[in-house]
Amino acid sequence: MKCSKCSNNAVFTNPTLCKEHFIEYFETKVKDTIKQNNMIQKQEKVCVAASGGKDSITTLYLLHKFGYNVEALAVDEGIEGYRDHTLAFLKDFCEEKGIILHIKSYQEEVGKRLDTVVPKGRPACNICGTFRRHLLNKYTQDYDKIATGHNLDDESQAVLMNLLKAQINLFARQGPKTKQIKGFTQKIKPLYLMKEKEIMTYSYIKGFNTPYNECPYAKDSYRAHVRDLLNSIESKNPGTKINLINKYLSIREGFSQDKEIRFCEVCNSPCSSQICKACRLKKQVKAV
Ligand code: SF4
Ligand SMILES: [Zn+2]
Ligand SMILES: [Zn+2]
Repeated sequence: MKCSKCSNNAVFTNPTLCKEHFIEYFETKVKDTIKQNNMIQKQEKVCVAASGGKDSITTLYLLHKFGYNVEALAVDEGIEGYRDHTLAFLKDFCEEKGIILHIKSYQEEVGKRLDTVVPKGRPACNICGTFRRHLLNKYTQDYDKIATGHNLDDESQAVLMNLLKAQINLFARQGPKTKQIKGFTQKIKPLYLMKEKEIMTYSYIKGFNTPYNECPYAKDSYRAHVRDLLNSIESKNPGTKINLINKYLSIREGFSQDKEIRFCEVCNSPCSSQICKACRLKKQVKAV
């Protein structure tokens, strides 16, 4: 099949583009997303939440390439055979590009590795995600923005998950750029409109040999079920994911952060109760 813009062979369909035109399409779309959502000002300091996977590597690469002032922050949950591989790749990548990388671990912050607290095969994402969000916010207080690699697939899953769990109050916290709330570093998602397969293609063309191993805890997570469901609907009804996101974006402004922001009595992090969820979990984890 030929590229829709030149006579070269296409490497991607829908849109049908050759290597060169696909790169141009991809980078232009990310630039437009940044611009249309007023995500970053040139003088701002941005921290990319990097795991070493294709999404965060692409985010880091592009923000660096576009000339923004970026550093990377990785969280090592302590998952043997998984995070150690992606972190090794991330370290090499940052060294090669001259990007400062900070690494924080659950071992150092919580006192235990994730895989010593939750046996493989048991649900771990709630506890893991709580600590990750806590550490990312804690260690990005000196930055203007925190950029994550969330893509269209992740975000449409998040909208559906919140609907299925009737967590409509969480709608205000999603979107390509979170609202400014005291104590929280504002989050931006430059890949918000990029499909997972587009990011895979871009990473492949760019030669990012990111490890493709999946977290051993991921397969039984609630998100994995929603992902499979949405993928199956999308394959029969193409456009479902982007329609879901467009509809969500059209009603998003109507949702506000309903809970009052307080500050945790233990760690002073912003939260909605006396003690934040991370501190409450930390206590339970220490008892394991
Ligand atoms: S899949 Fe779950 S356990 Fe694994 S890194 Fe992600 S949040 Fe943590
Ligand atoms: Zn072309
Ligand atoms: Zn706390």
